[in-house]
Amino acid sequence: MKLYSTLDRKVVDIQTIKDNEISIYSCGPTVYYRMHLGNIRAYINWDVMHRAFKYLGYNVNRVMNFTDVGHMSHDEDFGEDKMDNEAAKEGITAIDVANKYINTVLEDFKALNILTPSGDVISRDLDYKDVEKFGWMRATNMIPEIIELVKKMEANGYTYETDKALYFDVTKVPDYTIFTGQKLEDKKVGDREDVVVDPNKKNPADFVLWMKLVGKYANHDMHWSSPWGEGFPGWHIECSAMGNKAFGEHFDIHTGGIDHIPVHHPNERAQNIGAFGQPVVKYWVHNEWVVTKDDAKLAKSEGNADTLPEAIAQGFDALDIRYLFASVNYHTKLQFSTEALKGAQNARLSLNKKVKELGDKSGKVIPRYIGRFKNALENNLNMSEVLSILNEMLKSKEDKEDILATVLEFDRVLGLNLNNIKDYSVVIADEQIEKYARERDTARAEKRYDDADKFRKLIEEAGFKVFDTPEGTKYAKY
Ligand code: AMP
Ligand code: ZN
Repeated sequence: MKLYSTLDRKVVDIQTIKDNEISIYSCGPTVYYRMHLGNIRAYINWDVMHRAFKYLGYNVNRVMNFTDVGHMSHDEDFGEDKMDNEAAKEGITAIDVANKYINTVLEDFKALNILTPSGDVISRDLDYKDVEKFGWMRATNMIPEIIELVKKMEANGYTYETDKALYFDVTKVPDYTIFTGQKLEDKKVGDREDVVVDPNKKNPADFVLWMKLVGKYANHDMHWSSPWGEGFPGWHIECSAMGNKAFGEHFDIHTGGIDHIPVHHPNERAQNIGAFGQPVVKYWVHNEWVVTKDDAKLAKSEGNADTLPEAIAQGFDALDIRYLFASVNYHTKLQFSTEALKGAQNARLSLNKKVKELGDKSGKVIPRYIGRFKNALENNLNMSEVLSILNEMLKSKEDKEDILATVLEFDRVLGLNLNNIKDYSVVIADEQIEKYARERDTARAEKRYDDADKFRKLIEEAGFKVFDTPEGTKYAKY
């Protein structure tokens, strides 16, 4: 398998620590709101990666965290606590906020056909109480492990304490800025504001391992006792603690969004070095943004991103979203628009229709296409190539039953439920729309206005807007 390794700054051959086995840690959601389509892209891309490794014969060991404590606004040390803020807004406790939004993640993942980190299909009744059986880890359930890990860093001389917090001293890690190549002195202004909050913080880039219940956090909802006083963990430490708990002192792949390249992942890596004397993670792999047409990142704070239920209310299926995001490589910036999603919907429905036409009897897989499919996966998850091979095969003269058997193999990675197609009848080929448009013109010319209306409706139902022009009926995707 070849993947883009952020630290190597290129696509590399993945050499796993153990033969035919791969360990993957995925930075997961901070659970104080319902995911939006930008977040969803990340989890679909990593689900495709997970399925691809599995399909290629690896034994996949994977975990993902739920951040339910310690994540401040703007990823700052002394920002507003995201969980506490939401708890105050909703009039419930922080842990109830976490449970509520873990449940929405599970609902969304299920609809999107995203497997659990343990590789299982999400069952209808899975809720927050059982997530740990399926490879998820919650920060609030890892406090003893977090404290033990911080004690190791402390014993190794990587920390210092002030009256506000216990910090990691980044100057102790000579290649701390390896992810960005940035100089320590140039670290961003946000970090400087933290120095104002705590004048005893030595370096703007130092970060909190344990926050004490003082100042603005005196009434913090969730807190535990520790060798550094009553308090709660900083945001980055949970991922190091969980990665270590799941895989020990070495693992293969760590995934996350590109937003984690400047702060969260350098901090995780520094913690690993502080505790274990070496970086722990072999490959860091990052997903690019979903952006608007104007190149703005889809973000909760911008209010420019729909949630899955909002997209469904507009007439889309969760699998249309899966199709859109699964068809693009994780490392490619993706421009999102309703038209793009509409395009994915049309493509998916037309795929469904073609697969349905193959019948329900599945024959033997076609080795030639399977070989090309595996090559495309191994080539840095080239998903657009996967779809073009799939379409080529559907047009081929091969035996229908064998094509179906092979399609279903592709679907083990695509996850489009092609073995259980429900929605295909509404798909209308573009030539058909053209026919409706001409029929409408004829009907109008012959003053059969009811018929003309009927054809207008048919065009609209297929997702087009109808225009009357001097040249007759024109239509455009909306
Ligand atoms: P958060 O819950 O804010 O920690 O975000 C969860 C994940 O979603 C992170 O790994 C982010 O990188 C990712 N994410 C957030 N917005 C976008 C976006 N517009 N495009 C792609 N990934 C995103
Ligand atoms: Zn993380």
